[in-house]
Amino acid sequence: MTKLNLKPKDFLVILTGAGISAESGIKTFRDSDGLWENHSVEEVATPEGFANNPILVWKFYKERYYQALSVSPNPGHIALVDLEKKLNKNFLLVTQNVDGLHDRAGSKSVIEMHGSLNTCFCTNCKKKELMSDVDLNPDIPICSACGKMLRPDIVWFGEMPYRMNEIYKALDKATVFMTIGTSGNVYPAANFIAYVRNRGARTIGVNLEKPENMAYIDEFFQGKAGDILPSIL
Ligand code: NAD
Repeated sequence: MTKLNLKPKDFLVILTGAGISAESGIKTFRDSDGLWENHSVEEVATPEGFANNPILVWKFYKERYYQALSVSPNPGHIALVDLEKKLNKNFLLVTQNVDGLHDRAGSKSVIEMHGSLNTCFCTNCKKKELMSDVDLNPDIPICSACGKMLRPDIVWFGEMPYRMNEIYKALDKATVFMTIGTSGNVYPAANFIAYVRNRGARTIGVNLEKPENMAYIDEFFQGKAGDILPSIL
């Protein structure tokens, strides 16, 4: 397979999605049925869903948290760690994933724009806590500071993704942009590729199926990220 041949002066921004973690054993979002692990998006990934049934939503994210802890990074995650070592500061990895696998693989410059399964925060005083420090036995875990309800530190549909200013600063510098394992239909992340390409950046895609934003991809590698990334990077 042809190598990407990145130049030392390139500034690379990568966007990853659920597909890069599929080979670690974590299901993607809408797999084939429009559901996330048998639940509708409205039920488990919206503020309204949490308001309607916090016990169900907490049960869902506790399961996701324990599942993520039980799996390991795969060769796709590891190829991105090696790439970051080569590019040093000219590298930013933005992930929509909440599983923490980039971090556990050893990636340093990572923005988890949709939050993380490894943290939660108080619905009242906003104190952030590590899930590993929280008593997860109650149906709805409680804040250690004010005793009110905690919620998962996940950016739900209708909420503002994290660190957008930093992301757009990097997109403004990017000479190369890669999208990996993402269907291209969750916004605003799905727009990043059009934004950088309109600035003249080179765009690369690695995905099992053609994503929604295929029209903006200059070089497309179809297949599994764990097979393709180690061979093109
Ligand atoms: P998505 O499920 O909508 O799309 C996944 C894409 O990955 C699909 O286009 C699929 O063809 C592709 N894919 C599947 N296996 C692959 C592989 N082995 N290699 C390369 N590509 C592969 O995911 P999304 O676009 O990331 O949007 C889902 C949203 O749900 C995100 O915002 C994320 O926060 C959340 N989510 C996260 C996780 C996780 O953290 N692992 C898992 C499920 C959902």
